[in-house]
Amino acid sequence: MKEKGRYLEELGISIGECFRCSIASYRKRVVKGEGSLSSKVMLIAQAPNRQEMVSGRIFTGPSGEVLDKLIVSGGFLRDDLYITNLLKCPLPCCRKPLRAEIEACLPFLRREIEILRPRVLVPLGRYSIKEVLREYGHPVPPRNNEIPFIFGQIFRGGGVFVLPLPHPATVLYRPSFFEPVLKLYGETLSKVRKILNSLE
Ligand code: SF4
Repeated sequence: MKEKGRYLEELGISIGECFRCSIASYRKRVVKGEGSLSSKVMLIAQAPNRQEMVSGRIFTGPSGEVLDKLIVSGGFLRDDLYITNLLKCPLPCCRKPLRAEIEACLPFLRREIEILRPRVLVPLGRYSIKEVLREYGHPVPPRNNEIPFIFGQIFRGGGVFVLPLPHPATVLYRPSFFEPVLKLYGETLSKVRKILNSLE
């Protein structure tokens, strides 16, 4: 565990010094992943938001409060999981990430996965979902409006299980989605629990 912590610290330093894409000129600080280093489950969101850039901590503020409610519905607490982002710096004006920016930042996520060796990846939101599916050789829905159809499905390959879910911020933009998203998280995280039990 000590080694994992040391490798993550080294990774954090590399991320803090990174100027591989233009987002670097906008950031005030990077936001690193956090959570249980022994967890077999890694949640992967899109990018830090402004509040997270201020606090320096992932999933703080309203989206963090929503995330906590959603994961509790599946019988998990934050401390049971490791949570990170596809992009390590906040996007200017909350715009969408460019392909080149994702490609520039992807080696950091790859290294994080290599260090922590999770068995279950839960990408949150379409950018993370598409990237994680692509990374493990799974088919990627050709159109964005097809992504909700794969929420909660289990993709297996490359030594990991991938279970896509919507980003918690979806609920902040559309409060009426809260109940269906809560149900989806509950059902999907129950599947995650069963996978973890089968690995023991
Ligand atoms: S988003 Fe990623 S690649 Fe771009 S500057 Fe930040 S850490 Fe580097």
